Amino acid sequence: MNAMYDLIIIGAGPGGIALAAEACASGINQSQILVLEKGATHNFAIRQLYPDQKLTTANYKGFDARCEGLLCVSDMTKSETIEFFDKVISDYQINIQFDAEVFGMRAVDQEGGARFRVESSNGTYESKVSACL
Ligand SMILES: Cc1cc2nc3c(=O)[nH]c(=O)nc-3n(C[C@H](O)[C@H](O)[C@H](O)COP(=O)(O)OP(=O)(O)OC[C@H]3O[C@@H](n4cnc5c(N)ncnc54)[C@H](O)[C@@H]3O)c2cc1C
Repeated sequence: MNAMYDLIIIGAGPGGIALAAEACASGINQSQILVLEKGATHNFAIRQLYPDQKLTTANYKGFDARCEGLLCVSDMTKSETIEFFDKVISDYQINIQFDAEVFGMRAVDQEGGARFRVESSNGTYESKVSACL
């Protein structure tokens, strides 16, 4: 029997972390939410791609920065951005498995309804809902 979750999220970048926090806030128990991240830390892309002196701007590329969710960000340095997400992960007790690269996801029919089967380098998991960000 594979480990079963209500929601599996692939990728612990801003999108995946925000979705996990929103899901917690909407009433899904955090123990039922799993984030699988292929990197050794969250926000692997930001850590790798942003120059150290770069400011994370809220109105990136001129987009209007209107906050419609839980995570409202203002302009921050790269390290402040990482700390901001550290705090979100801690506040919402988001369950992230690191070094877990997902290489397959498919819908399977089972007694009790359809499920998603997610195959990763850390093992195989099942969920009612999966989101790849
Ligand atoms: C140089 C640069 C500067 C930027 N500056 C800004 C800015 O100032 N302001 C702004 O708002 N936006 C900026 N952006 C854009 C912003 O970084 C992205 O919009 C944001 O990171 C997207 O978030 P995401 O969670 O969708 O994806 P990502 O940040 O790409 O996160 C995806 C995560 O998924 C993981 N992953 C990928 N594949 C797998 C897999 N198979 N299994 C498990 N995990 C996986 C990755 O390791 C990563 O941690 C910038 C982007 C770049 C490249």
